[in-house]
Amino acid sequence: MRVGWTVEDGRWRLRLRLDPAEGLTGTVTDGQRVVLATDTCHIRLPDAAAGGSGAGLPVTASGPAPAEPAEPHGDLRALAAWTVAAPWTAGRIVFDRPISPALAEAFREGWGIDAGPVGEDPRPAGSRLAISYSGGADSAAVAAILPDAPLVHFRRVPHPRVPNRWTHYRSDVLAGLARETGRDVTVVESDLEFLLREPRPGYPEHHAVLAGAVLLAGRMDLGGLALGYEIGSRWLGGGRYVHRFTPDNPMWSPHGRWGRLFAAAGLPLVLPAGGISEAMTMRLALNSKLRDQVRWCLRGDGAGPCGRCGKCLYKELIQAAVERRPLNTTITADRPVARKWQQPPPYGGQEMIEYGCARVPGIEHTPFAVAAGHLKATVESTRWLERCYPPAVAEIPRPWRAAVEKVMADEFGFMDEQDVRRVESWGRR
Ligand SMILES: [Zn+2]
Repeated sequence: MRVGWTVEDGRWRLRLRLDPAEGLTGTVTDGQRVVLATDTCHIRLPDAAAGGSGAGLPVTASGPAPAEPAEPHGDLRALAAWTVAAPWTAGRIVFDRPISPALAEAFREGWGIDAGPVGEDPRPAGSRLAISYSGGADSAAVAAILPDAPLVHFRRVPHPRVPNRWTHYRSDVLAGLARETGRDVTVVESDLEFLLREPRPGYPEHHAVLAGAVLLAGRMDLGGLALGYEIGSRWLGGGRYVHRFTPDNPMWSPHGRWGRLFAAAGLPLVLPAGGISEAMTMRLALNSKLRDQVRWCLRGDGAGPCGRCGKCLYKELIQAAVERRPLNTTITADRPVARKWQQPPPYGGQEMIEYGCARVPGIEHTPFAVAAGHLKATVESTRWLERCYPPAVAEIPRPWRAAVEKVMADEFGFMDEQDVRRVESWGRR
C-alpha cells in the first residue's frame, strides 16, 4: 500500500494505491470483511480562524496568526492515513512523509507491517486531551467527566463519486447538536465512510472517526484522545465480538496494536468511561448539562430521535431501566428491528439487555419479553453494572487519571472482588 495526502483550502485528500498483491476486500481489526468502493476520500479541517478555539492557531502577541497552519508531524499524517488504509494493507505501507522509528516499530510489532520511510524525530507530546464526541450518551458522559476538554465531532458528508443511499443518516442534525453544547467544539467533515462498498458506508476501522482529530493534534496541542467506549465495548466484547471478557481487546486496550500505535504518535487512546456500563453513561449524560443535546439516534431530526430504529429501541430499554419506568415505544416484537430479541442469547450488549430486563416494569409485554425469559436477570444479578471496574481507571494515562477516578468514586463507587469476578468471567458462566 502507498498512501499520500494532498491539501487544498483545508481539505485533506487521501489517496490509497494498492500493491499488486492487495485486493479490494480487506479485514477490519474486529474481523469484519470490508470491500473498497473507491480510492480517495477527504477530511475537511476547520479554518484556523473558525471551529473550536482549540483548533484555531494561537494568536501571538506579535500579530495575527500565519495564514497556513503548521504542517502536521509525519507520524500524525501516517496515523490518520492508517485508520483508513489498514484493512487493505498487506505486508508494507509507504507514507508520503517520513515517520519516527517508534511509529515504525509499533507497525512492526502490532501488525507485522513494514512501514516507512523512517527518519522523523518522535512527535513531542502535547498537553491537552480532546474528546471524540459523537453526541451519543457515552461520549456525552465523557464530556461530563472532563468538563474542560475540547470536543472534536466527526461529521459525514457525501462523497463526490459514491452515491449516497443512506440519506436517512442525519449527520447535519448531530453536528448541530454538538455545536449547541456550548463547549469548545471542532467539527471535521469527511466522506471517508463512503470508501466502503460493503457492508455499508462506515468507518474503515473504528479509529477512522479520529482521523481529523489526529491531523489537528499539533494545532490543538493534543496529548491524548478520549473516546466514549464503555465497559461493554472495552472489556465485555462489545460490538461485533459477543459476550466474552476481552482484556486484550485489540482496538481499545492500551497494550493492543492500536493503543500502542496511537501512543507512539504521542496520542494515547483514553477511555474515561471504560469502567462503567452503558446504563451508567446514560445516567451521567442525562443528569449533565448536555442532557438536551444527547442524541444516539442517527435518523431523527431537530424534533428528536426517530423512535423507530433498532438503536432507539435498545437505548429506550436502557433509559427506562435507569428511570425505573415502563418501556415507552411503539415498536412491536414482529418488527424487523426487534427480531434479534426474539432469538435466544447471546446478544451484543447482553449485559445491558440483562440490566434492562431486570429493571423495566412490565418487560413481559414488550419486544424484550422473549429475551427476558431466557436471561432471567434480576436487580441483584445486575447490580455490578452500576459500579466502576477498577482496572479501567488504572489504564488511563497519568495526567488525566485522578480526575476520572474522582468522578468514578463520587458517582458510582468501585466494584468489589465479587463484581470484578463477574466482569472477568463474562461469557463463561
Ligand atoms: Zn432512531
